[in-house]
Amino acid sequence: MTKSGLTIATTLRQPAELVAHGLAPAAALADLEKVAARYAIAVTPQIAGLIDPGDPTDPIARQFIPAADELVSGPGERADPIGDHAHSPVAGIVHRYPDRVLFKLVHVCAVYCRFCFRREMVGPGRDSALSEPAYQSALDYIRARKEIWEVILTGGDPLMLSPRRLGEIMADLAAIGHVRVIRLHTRVPVADPARISDQMVAALKVEGAVTWVALHANHASELTGKARAACARLIDAGIPMVSQSVLLRGVNDNPADLEALMRSFVECRIKPYYLHHGDLAPGTAHLRTTLAHGQQLMRSLRGRVSGLCQPDYVLDIPGGHGKSPVGPNYLAADHAQEREYQAETRYRVSDYCGDVHLYPPDQ
Ligand code: SF4
Repeated sequence: MTKSGLTIATTLRQPAELVAHGLAPAAALADLEKVAARYAIAVTPQIAGLIDPGDPTDPIARQFIPAADELVSGPGERADPIGDHAHSPVAGIVHRYPDRVLFKLVHVCAVYCRFCFRREMVGPGRDSALSEPAYQSALDYIRARKEIWEVILTGGDPLMLSPRRLGEIMADLAAIGHVRVIRLHTRVPVADPARISDQMVAALKVEGAVTWVALHANHASELTGKARAACARLIDAGIPMVSQSVLLRGVNDNPADLEALMRSFVECRIKPYYLHHGDLAPGTAHLRTTLAHGQQLMRSLRGRVSGLCQPDYVLDIPGGHGKSPVGPNYLAADHAQEREYQAETRYRVSDYCGDVHLYPPDQ
């Protein structure tokens, strides 16, 4: 049931459904149809139930209900903001760092986040899953490279697969001797906690490799009783969890909300791992903060909560140069090139190889 008292039985995917359930204003329908023609929409009953339709600043609505702002592409925004394509040797694999690969099995998610960095690649209109030959080629790629220690199943959301299929994939990966860690990135425990069934938990446990789950959540209210119970099922089965969040304007870009989110993770036995600076995905400028504001928040968090509650604040450098920590101690203003770039100062940021890049990059 939503906070306005309406019962929602199925995932909402059309702007008209959002309007009918009071989750979007009727006056916005024409614009939202244009957004829907470009980017996928999905709001599960669990997520719809968290939204207060009477609150125009609702932090859950900002993450999942489309907005006309998405039709405007800001400076520097790009279809592939973190350079997946440039590092994809075979379909389904992104190999950016020597010891690990991303393995993108599906292009669908339980919910579609309005700030998604892969928003041009995910959604029901895309190929829903890797074909069997492509899957086998991706496995061959991993088998042939002994330096690959960790395989990260990511999105779309790997927990959209059936437990049976996921179990097969986990077994295939664990059978590769040098693959010691399999990490899954997911929003399912908060968006559709019932999917974390006994069968799903069993599918994730595999002989020969250790499984980690990284939970994506951005506001403490996403960690409902059902979501906490779903995470507990995973953790009680021996699967350690970490968190990843995106710093989002109007969602968690203030000390109190960020602190509550990190405390909630730790209370759920989930170690805060990453706080991502918003990627330059098209039509997401209204949800991004500045790096300076993110650093300020990290300083504030450091002073308010224990080290257990501290994530790494990271920037995925546009162009596929990887993640760099950009917390207060890692970033310097480039006075030689400093200039106003919309609302953002220009910075020099080092990647893991020590190479220096400008952020925001040149157009
Ligand atoms: S769940 Fe992940 S991949 Fe899917 S829309 Fe959200 S951010 Fe994008």
